[in-house]
Amino acid sequence: MTKTSLQSGDKIRLKAADFDFCRELQFNRDEGITTFRNSRILIFDANSIGLLRQNLIVELGWDKAREFFLRFGYQNGFSDFQQIKLSCEYENETELLSLGPIMHTWEGIVKAVPTSLKFDRETGDFSFTGIWKNSYEAEQHKAFNTVATEPVCWSLAGYAAGWCTAFFGSPLLAVEPKCVGMGHTHCEWLIQPPQAFGAEALPYIEALKIFWADSES
Ligand SMILES: [Zn+2]
Repeated sequence: MTKTSLQSGDKIRLKAADFDFCRELQFNRDEGITTFRNSRILIFDANSIGLLRQNLIVELGWDKAREFFLRFGYQNGFSDFQQIKLSCEYENETELLSLGPIMHTWEGIVKAVPTSLKFDRETGDFSFTGIWKNSYEAEQHKAFNTVATEPVCWSLAGYAAGWCTAFFGSPLLAVEPKCVGMGHTHCEWLIQPPQAFGAEALPYIEALKIFWADSES
């Protein structure tokens, strides 16, 4: 069996609900490096990310800013999944997939609460829905902008797509049917294959297809 390159300790066997990110983070103050297994972790103030995001909107326009934040989130979700896969033994696939919303919540990005999940690796069907509360990105968007006509939690949607695509092994997309940035009381996510969405997903597909070149070739 191939040995992994874990930095510390054995794999932790867990149920998703028991995952403790505090115990997984390694703070090395001598080197100024914080890690989660093989990933270097950075901690930023949300306002600084919000300012960067707003500058991208103002300087490059809505479409480019959305594209960059979708990719930023996707990379984050994809990387987190890789570390979890290296670190954990899980009882079944649903437990592994369920760690995505749990990680998202631990990282202080959003409170992610799944509401339904079904997938079939044989047919390629995949549907994962849930509620996002306290999205940092919706908060930051509202601090700078008026009510939007489309969803604004781009890095969250990217994260969900990255995590689930890494899990499923073929492209999956996350789009928000509801978003606080549009005036709703909470955000909702819907994750499914790109072809299952309508025109609302086209900018998301355009942004993320650079990650999917291998799986489509
Ligand atoms: Zn939202």
